[in-house]
Amino acid sequence: MTERFVRYEYLEQVRYGRVTGAVVEVLTGDPVSGSATPTGESVALREVTLLAPVVPGKILAVGRNYADHIAEMGMGTPTVPRLFFKPPSAVIGPGELIRHPVQSQQVEHEAELAVVIGRTARDVPAADALSRVFGYTCANDVTARDIQRADGQPSWAKAFDTFCPLGPWIVPGLDPAALEIMCTVNGQERQRSHTSLLLTSVAELIAHITAAVTLEPGDVILTGTPAGVGAIVPGDEVAVTISGIGTLLNRVGSGQ
Ligand code: MG
Repeated sequence: MTERFVRYEYLEQVRYGRVTGAVVEVLTGDPVSGSATPTGESVALREVTLLAPVVPGKILAVGRNYADHIAEMGMGTPTVPRLFFKPPSAVIGPGELIRHPVQSQQVEHEAELAVVIGRTARDVPAADALSRVFGYTCANDVTARDIQRADGQPSWAKAFDTFCPLGPWIVPGLDPAALEIMCTVNGQERQRSHTSLLLTSVAELIAHITAAVTLEPGDVILTGTPAGVGAIVPGDEVAVTISGIGTLLNRVGSGQ
C-alpha cells in the first residue's frame, strides 16, 4: 500500500503521522528528516486537522517548465531553468484560506507537483538526484499576475502570505515523470496535464539547483505549472489533484 505522511493538529498538539486507510499512526519526530518512529498510538484521520505536511527551510520554484503554459503566457522557452524562491512564510495547509491581497486585481492558481527533499543534496548528478527525495505532494503556486507583469520578475508576486498551499500529504516512491496533474475551481476543470511533459525533469532540476544551492531535508521544489492558469476570487474553491497523491483543497478569502 502507498505510504502517506501527514503533519496534523489534534487536541492542540502538532504531530507527524503515517496514514493507513482511515487511521493515522502517530510518529515521534519528523519523517522527512528520517528521525520518526511509531509511538504505537493512533488516531482517526477524520478527527485530525491536516496541516502543510512539511515545514520547508526554503522553497525553490521553476517558471516556464511546460510548453503549453509558456505559449499561453506569450513568453520564450528558457534555455536554462528559471528559478526563483518562495518564502516559507507563504505556506498554508489543506483547507486553509488563500488570502486575496488588496494590492492585486488578478490572483491566479498554478497547480504544481511539489518535491520534498529527504537527504542533504549538494552537487548531485541527475542520475543520483531522486535518491535525495523524500516524497511528493501537491502545490498551488498562487500568483498575483498583474504584479508579476508589472515587476518583470516572479518572486514578489508569488511571495504573499498564503500563496503556497501544500498537501494534503507526502507520498514517497512515486515516479515524478508519470503523474497526471489537474486543477479545478468550483468544480470546473482549469488545468489538466502530465508530469512527463516537464521541460526540465525533477532529477535535472535537483542537479541544476544543487550545483549552486545545497538542499536540506524538508526543502521543497515546485516544478512549474501547465496551461490553464486563471483568476481566483474570494469565495472560490481551488482543488489541485495529482494522481498517486490526492487532492489539495483551499478556499479563497478576502485580503486584510
Ligand atoms: Mg509556478
